[in-house]
Amino acid sequence: MNRLLLFLLSLTTLASASLLHAKPLSISLDVDATQITRKLVNSRLTFETSPGELVLRYPEWVPGVHAPRGPIQNLGGLRVTDDKGQTVNWERDPKDRYRFLVDVPKGSRSVTVAIDYICSQPSTNSNGVDSFGNSFVGIINWNTLLVYPESHPLAEVEVTTQLTLPNGWKLGCAIASNQDDSGIWNLDTVNIEQLVDSPIIMGENFRSFELEAADFPKTNLHVTSESAAALMAPDETIEKFGKLASEAGLLFGGAHFEQYDFLLVCSDQLPFNGLEHLKSSYNSVSERFFLEEDKLKGWEGYLLPHEFVHSWCGKYRRPEGMLTHDFHTVKDTRLLWVYEGLTQHLGEVLTVRSGIWDIDHFKQLLAGKISYLRSIRGRQWRSLEDTAADAYHLRGWSRSWSSLRRGQDYYNEGLLFWLEVDAILRGETNSETTLDDFSKQFLGANYPGGEVLPFTEEDVVSELNKLLKYDWEELIENRITNTQESMPLDFVEKLGYKLKYSSEPTKAQKDREKDRNYASALDSLGMDVSKSGTVRSGLVIDMPAAAAGVSPGMKIIGVNDRKFSLDRFREAIADSVVRGKVTLLVEDGDRFRTIEIPYDGGLRYLELERDESKPDLIEAIYTPRLES
Ligand SMILES: [Zn+2]
Repeated sequence: MNRLLLFLLSLTTLASASLLHAKPLSISLDVDATQITRKLVNSRLTFETSPGELVLRYPEWVPGVHAPRGPIQNLGGLRVTDDKGQTVNWERDPKDRYRFLVDVPKGSRSVTVAIDYICSQPSTNSNGVDSFGNSFVGIINWNTLLVYPESHPLAEVEVTTQLTLPNGWKLGCAIASNQDDSGIWNLDTVNIEQLVDSPIIMGENFRSFELEAADFPKTNLHVTSESAAALMAPDETIEKFGKLASEAGLLFGGAHFEQYDFLLVCSDQLPFNGLEHLKSSYNSVSERFFLEEDKLKGWEGYLLPHEFVHSWCGKYRRPEGMLTHDFHTVKDTRLLWVYEGLTQHLGEVLTVRSGIWDIDHFKQLLAGKISYLRSIRGRQWRSLEDTAADAYHLRGWSRSWSSLRRGQDYYNEGLLFWLEVDAILRGETNSETTLDDFSKQFLGANYPGGEVLPFTEEDVVSELNKLLKYDWEELIENRITNTQESMPLDFVEKLGYKLKYSSEPTKAQKDREKDRNYASALDSLGMDVSKSGTVRSGLVIDMPAAAAGVSPGMKIIGVNDRKFSLDRFREAIADSVVRGKVTLLVEDGDRFRTIEIPYDGGLRYLELERDESKPDLIEAIYTPRLES
């Protein structure tokens, strides 16, 4: 038995005892971000320890990304020294790559861990919890810059942070801070869980707005960008974000925080991204977010409301299996259909109620969601819950035959579930009871000083039953936990609408295709094609295109005997009414083929049509609560 194995075994035996008897630990964290413009940040953590075995962990399961993907691959240095300045050796646990085994020498009373972190190297599952930097803008997620002793629960590790920024830069963060005469920022002492839950944005161009919200805690919007002009947010837009806070207060019946900070980066250099935190959110949108009206009205406008709702749904109320008190215990993500699905729904509700989106735009997007989700054949072998259980494998993967594999459907199909719940509550109670009541009671009520409250599926059902006695378990089984032959669509009728086809895309669909350079033939041929002619995601195996032999990745070079373009592709589908087919010349690897798709339905796009014989529940759900 070698020394390392003995060491590991002794730790396993002692692990529970040491957790029970550990004293609170104070870490002094010194972060030098002056090199963040060169994509490097250095941190030094100093804390007391005793000679012998010390196990340090690099955060692996970082909250918010629902994946064991703490970006450990970007470490550019990890050095341990003791209080005499001597190098202390460490070894990586060969069976757990995030675990470092440190042998503290006799006579040492404390150690310092120096970390060099290489920024701006995000991977699919670390985007929101990584650190970034360029000449103008920086983002620090503390999980990238620290290790923590395995012996202590996170709540018992206190961190006092000092931070140095590039000259003249300002910062935004949910943790209170002040800058001393030497230019160093001193952050209030918090526990390590709170620190990791409070990222920082910083930059040369920086603006903070205090939002005007009625009966709501102080809410700030901090913005940074490479461009000074990008910070020139119109008053009208800032007012809408104020309304967002007011409407959230009305929806949840208050807030569990004393202050909330939106951290917003307007940049074309960083990936579009958002990440939720208890008292703040990180949001990254395009540089011209405030300058072009269409940006806010389009899909980017939805980001801040979504991350804001998460403060209640996902952070304050958290699925039990996701509320772990360390960064290494595996999370059970099956309830993401609540965590993300309900957030997706309430986020859109608040986006419309605050005036960021208009209701017609919302309805057009809803039709688009239904069109996409209805095409998902993967529901025949895996449930919606299973997409949540295996969430991180579905993020950012190849879209080849994605209709068979399924994507992160717990977001939008979760949204449809909660929309249906609202329709049932309203329908069965003559609109006396609504999902707003559920939001207040389940996500909002009884704030015990902001302490995070776990929930189970049984808690969700029991809360719904308090509002309306109904077979919620059966609904959850049918919509969430069972596989399905096809997607149940009766919720559309419950909302007071019908589905119909139009030969014209909605404005939202037209904008989306223009924005993303593609043409959707999902409701006609069962495929999408990009501007270059490449067959994209959305190929549906039992619809005309795939049935005729079209495969993912093929490149269409000709359509109905003419050179391919998106417009000619659309025209060919329109002409199918007369021709009874669409003919494609495709490049398939190094082979050319002609594929004839038998089809005579013309262009078809799904739309929602009002059913005047029923109450309009969409209008009722999305109308602002705030009296203007
Ligand atoms: Zn989310």
